[in-house]
Amino acid sequence: MDFALTEDQLALAAATRRFAKDVLAPGAVERTRQPSYPFDIARKLAAQGLLGITIAGADGGQGGTVLEAIIVIQAVAEVCPRSADVIQAANFGAIRTLAEYGSAHLKRKYLGPLLAGDAVLALGMTEAEAGSAVTDLRTTARQDADRVVINGGKVFSSHSADAELFLVYVRFGPGADGIGSVLIERDTAGFTVGKPASFMSGERWCPLYFDNTVIPADNIVLGTGGFKRQITAFNVERLGNAARSLALGRLAFNKAREHALSRHQFGRPLAEFQGIQWKFADMAAKLESAQLLLYRAAWAAGQAMPSAYDTALAKLASNTAGFEVSNEALQVMGGTGYTQESLVEYCVRRTRGWMIAGGSTEMMKNRIAESIFDRRFSQRLPVPSGYEPIGYEG
Ligand SMILES: Cc1cc2nc3c(=O)[nH]c(=O)nc-3n(C[C@H](O)[C@H](O)[C@H](O)COP(=O)(O)OP(=O)(O)OC[C@H]3O[C@@H](n4cnc5c(N)ncnc54)[C@H](O)[C@@H]3O)c2cc1C
Repeated sequence: MDFALTEDQLALAAATRRFAKDVLAPGAVERTRQPSYPFDIARKLAAQGLLGITIAGADGGQGGTVLEAIIVIQAVAEVCPRSADVIQAANFGAIRTLAEYGSAHLKRKYLGPLLAGDAVLALGMTEAEAGSAVTDLRTTARQDADRVVINGGKVFSSHSADAELFLVYVRFGPGADGIGSVLIERDTAGFTVGKPASFMSGERWCPLYFDNTVIPADNIVLGTGGFKRQITAFNVERLGNAARSLALGRLAFNKAREHALSRHQFGRPLAEFQGIQWKFADMAAKLESAQLLLYRAAWAAGQAMPSAYDTALAKLASNTAGFEVSNEALQVMGGTGYTQESLVEYCVRRTRGWMIAGGSTEMMKNRIAESIFDRRFSQRLPVPSGYEPIGYEG
């Protein structure tokens, strides 16, 4: 078994790390306090060829592999977490669903500005009554000849305060098979982006309201029967989320390591206390083991979609490691770690969110258990006779 990255992959990691240190490190702390999407950074990353890594060359991307995208997002996130949000949005997020399943017309129309860093695409999946139980979503899409009428609402959509375009999960008919997705432009009549609210990390999200919002039928990305493919593409988003968790854990670990070497108490550097050494040993074991699972999921995917089982293992391990290591690194740094002048407290706040976002750690465990026992465990109560499918109104 070969655990080594190839020479090309190592060169990509080194070049991205150099670029991150030179261009992204200055201002990294300040950026964590800026809730707006960093379009200035997005344009720089685009110029560096770091957007659309896994998107086909014919569609304006780089035609690379998921593993290459993971290498890049981690190299950036270890230096500037907010810049890595751009790598996520333009490589792993809803953009991948558009690139994978969108029509030639949609890709031609929308991918250009997204890959140039001039626009960002937000995902509207979660609803007030449909979080982990995403197939309970109630936002309806009624197709009427060459137009589609959308009604409903979404919550928690990242980048929604700044996005010009939204990939929205909608219900064309009953059951999971009735779920598909559409693209909606921000200024569409009947579509309202509500007042921004903040997550614990400082990121903003806005509620989205659809009130007889009319879009062209051409803007359907996946119609009836598309849900399985949509969730398969979402596994890529989950790997980007896992990669950032782990990278922020690594960032905090590195800061704590430097601190443990330079900070003296009781006349010795902190690194000489066994109680501190064991914390680092535990942190290293968590980071390294999660990293292997993440690489395995990405490597097995190649240029295609990662498997659900590999993704669930990688996300569970990376989200847990990222948060636990960040939190322990903060402890090692004492009061210095707790101040907002170090990125470490941000790593704690930010990694906490990824244990919930994009499929919580509990939902990842549910998915892993299904592979272990080779059967599906419905989380729902048995369906009584005469049951009306939830969320279908059209
Ligand atoms: C930082 C952040 C960014 C996000 N970005 C987006 C975005 O861009 N677009 C978007 O659409 N959504 C986004 N979300 C929403 C996210 O996808 C949901 O928060 C997530 O799916 C969980 O749903 P919920 O919050 O409704 O929690 P719930 O589903 O209500 O779950 C609450 C708790 O119960 C647990 N739970 C639920 N069901 C089970 C079960 N069957 N077994 C065991 N435990 C269970 C969950 O794990 C969780 O701990 C984001 C969320 C966060 C925190």
